[in-house]
Amino acid sequence: MTDVTVLKNFVGGQFIDSSGGLFDKVSPVDGGVIARVEEADEAVVDRAVRAARAALDGAWGRTSVADRVTLLRRIADRIDERFEDLLASEVADTGKPLDLARGLDVSRAAANFRTAADTIASASLDSFLTESPAGTALNYALRKPLGVVGVIVPWNLPLLLLTWKVAPALAAGNAVVVKPSEETPSSASLLAEIITGAGAPDGVYNVVHGYGPGSAGSHLTSHPDLDAVTFTGESRTGSAIMKAVASRVLPVSFELGGKNAAIVFDDADVPAAINGLARSTFTNTGQICLCTERIYVHRNVFGEVAAGLAERADALRYGRPEDPSTTTGPLISRRHREKVLSYYELAEREGAKLLAGGGIPDLGSDLDGGAWVQPALWTGLDNSHRTLREEIFGPAAALVPFTTEDEAIRLANDTDYGLAASVWTSDLARGHRVAGALRVGMSWVNTWYLRDLRSPFGGNGLSGIGREGGAHSLHFYTQPTNVCVAL
Ligand code: NAD
Repeated sequence: MTDVTVLKNFVGGQFIDSSGGLFDKVSPVDGGVIARVEEADEAVVDRAVRAARAALDGAWGRTSVADRVTLLRRIADRIDERFEDLLASEVADTGKPLDLARGLDVSRAAANFRTAADTIASASLDSFLTESPAGTALNYALRKPLGVVGVIVPWNLPLLLLTWKVAPALAAGNAVVVKPSEETPSSASLLAEIITGAGAPDGVYNVVHGYGPGSAGSHLTSHPDLDAVTFTGESRTGSAIMKAVASRVLPVSFELGGKNAAIVFDDADVPAAINGLARSTFTNTGQICLCTERIYVHRNVFGEVAAGLAERADALRYGRPEDPSTTTGPLISRRHREKVLSYYELAEREGAKLLAGGGIPDLGSDLDGGAWVQPALWTGLDNSHRTLREEIFGPAAALVPFTTEDEAIRLANDTDYGLAASVWTSDLARGHRVAGALRVGMSWVNTWYLRDLRSPFGGNGLSGIGREGGAHSLHFYTQPTNVCVAL
């Protein structure tokens, strides 16, 4: 095991030795150990938060917006320069196909920094005069950083989601302590080299590795000198973090789970809808919070849509990430596969009819040591079944027929989650009407996961609190002080 990379915690501008023990990072492709990670104990997390505070009290706390814009653009350029290193680490950690990581994950990292730079560079400065019997005053709001922000992220889009939060947090002048997922520790460490190399002062970006409860995650959220938490992950983890910070009333931004619906009307371009549904159900092996797990289809086209999607499920090709014929990767871990398979069994117990897949593929090679799973598509269930109520986070969806537009809206809104939805129709008015009636943070019409980084991102209900993206991110990562000057 001597040639396996050891990932260290990054504190105050340096990779440091930690005494908290080591854990293995296992490849989801074949089960081999690909890295050993030093777990951050309470002392390391404390050093990281202190380093962030020291950066804020020092030169970083006095940087101008122009200097931060320059730094963020330099970080984006260096991400481009180290694109292949980031790609390799992201693919090794997640097992996702190379082309997917190239087009989605790594290219987004640089875009996140450029968008945050553009947003802060063009942020408006509002001030206004107020007249009252007490006199005339000039009012303006100073937007200040929150301070030390804890950034806790999941494993499904590790670099994309990390940079989505770190870029605007730094643009706004905060210092961050990031806790990547124990499943995908590598790209956060590479980003440390990139951010430091781009000239960020020591302590502005710190990384603590480890697990959630009883480890780096909860050490971070319970640290008394933390000023805010931005978190992406499961809804119940969000709830645990909320409890952990409740007594200090810290601001939180939560991007949580989803049980997302698609609605296919009988006036839709059916082949295009099937393409869109295949993307939204199977991309990243169903491990994107925006993926579709409930598909409501008008009765007139139900058979055609179900058969078309089942064909697409059967056509998925398992393989090594670097093999260009691979179209689907494994799940992130054997542990997560157990969870996904437990839902496959649940669907069967609830009386579902299986249209495709539904088990473990026999790959007949060393890949069988990985976390591979077949997709699953079901009919014969409705919203009363747990299969349609709980997030599976795998390549699985249930198809349910409907007759009227009102019924489709009611079925799609009948959930405790509220992250995203897609509507498939050739009637433009209906598209606007239905998309607007859905109780979600993001509603797509005749597409899925088409994002402008300035638009608000987030969810309702169990899917989260707050919105990030462009100016929405700057609002979260800053707090205004109103200054009122008598004239
Ligand atoms: P998770 O909640 O298990 O873990 C996310 C992160 O939180 C990890 O770094 C983990 O170590 C840490 N953590 C866990 N318990 C903690 C605790 N008590 N205190 C502090 N930190 C803790 O989620 P996951 O399994 O890594 O990711 C999958 C989930 O993320 C799914 O539910 C998915 O829908 C959600 N997700 C949401 C979005 C979104 O934008 N809404 C995006 C991606 C993923």
